[in-house]
Formats: sequence, C-alpha cells, structure tokens
Amino acid sequence: MTETVHIYAGDCTTTYHSEADPRRQRGRVVVVHKPDDTVLVHDSNGYQPVAWLTRANAVHREQGPEGKFALVAVKDGEQLRVESHGGGERARHDATAAGIPVGVCPTCDGRLVRARGAVTCLDCDTDHGLPRDAAILDSTCDCGLPEMSVERGARFELCIDRTCESLDAAVRERFDREWSCPDCGGDLRVLRERALFLGCENYPDCEGSFRLPDAEVVGECACGLPEIPSDSGDEPRCLDGDCAETPEVI
Ligand SMILES: [Zn+2]
Ligand SMILES: [Zn+2]
Ligand SMILES: [Zn+2]
Ligand SMILES: [Zn+2]
Repeated sequence: MTETVHIYAGDCTTTYHSEADPRRQRGRVVVVHKPDDTVLVHDSNGYQPVAWLTRANAVHREQGPEGKFALVAVKDGEQLRVESHGGGERARHDATAAGIPVGVCPTCDGRLVRARGAVTCLDCDTDHGLPRDAAILDSTCDCGLPEMSVERGARFELCIDRTCESLDAAVRERFDREWSCPDCGGDLRVLRERALFLGCENYPDCEGSFRLPDAEVVGECACGLPEIPSDSGDEPRCLDGDCAETPEVI
C-alpha cells in the first residue's frame, strides 16, 4: 500500500519533553514524518536521529508566519516539538513498506515485495495477506502471481491470492473427515475460526477440537488423530500432546 511520507529540510529547533528536563537542539536538519506518525529528526552525522518519537498518538502541525511551522508529536508522557525557522524545503513522497522482492505484479508490472505478512505491489493496490508460515516459491500461478507453499497436514502449493486458489478449500478437500474424534469416534471436519482447525462433527454434543498441524502428517495414532513429527526430531507424536496412546519418552 502506498502512503505519504512528509519531509522537511531546514533550520529547526527541536524540543523533546519527557519526565526528564526538556532537551533542546538546533541545526540544519531533515525531518521525516511517516504515515504511522513516527517523526525523525536527522542531522548531518551518523544513522541515529538527534530527536524522534516513534508512532506518536497524534501529530499536529501549527502554521506560523512566513512559511514557518511547528510539528508537535505527542505520545503518552512524551512530546517532540520541531519548530522551523523559515526557508528550507518541504516535500511529500509516496512510500511503501520495504520487503523482500518476490516477483513482478501481473496487474501493472510493478515489483512485488513481501513485507509485514503480505505480498504487496510497489505501484498498485495489489495486496495479498499470507499465512504466517508461508514460503514464497519461484513458481508462478496461471494468474501471474507467485505461488507459496504452506504445510497444513500436508504440503500445499498454491497461488498467494486466496480468491484464485483457496488454502481452506485445498485442506478441506484433502483432510475433511480424514481422521476420527478420539472422544466420540465422529468424523473430524476441517473448520476455520481464526485459524484452520479440526472440529468434531458431533459438536455441540462433543467438543473435540484440535489444531490442524502446521507440518506434514507422518502417520496415524491409535487414538484416531494424525501423528506429526516431534519438535526434537525423535519419534513422531500424536497431534494431541496429552494422548494416552503416546508412549512415554524416557
Ligand atoms: Zn501492481
Ligand atoms: Zn493465481
Ligand atoms: Zn467427538
Ligand atoms: Zn493419539
């Protein structure tokens, strides 16, 4: 998603207040005001801002005479005031999140990047949220978007656009009614609340519900549930960590 970054370069006084005494500095600086209301004041040295407030609760701009202005950012007990002394240069620029390049946008030929849990285009509003553990593949879907792999009981390779290829539909097709409820023997359905999970078909009489493994299933436990690789890499274990059928590891 494209947002606007405001930049000002010129002679400014910055005043930072917190519980300690105010800290005042003046110089020819570059002020960066980000869309998330982070305000950074850079001078000529080093990577660190001389004054900043990260994700302020609010940022106000006070317009003064002769093009002078003050930018006031507040957050809980902190306040950063940046006062320009006139002149200088103001600009606004389109900006996006920076991420790992993952391909070319089929809609506009812009660059696709993976950042903040989504694949987004730098040039249009293409934006596809990803499952947290998805890996982007080198392969491309017929629609032109990159494909991803996700492990949910098995490894699924799908388009990153869930309206093009649905992870839920693929998992349902593969695993709906695949396993039985260890509590009542009913079929386990593939369901989604916030995440995909296995829920007993006899709900609400039976409340059996289990997370869908985010790994490839390697077998089936005597209780009816799938077996998954153990974290330690030893013997596979029952999806239900408390399952009585799981042999004690000594
Ligand atoms: Zn695009
Ligand atoms: Zn597709
Ligand atoms: Zn059940
Ligand atoms: Zn079991």
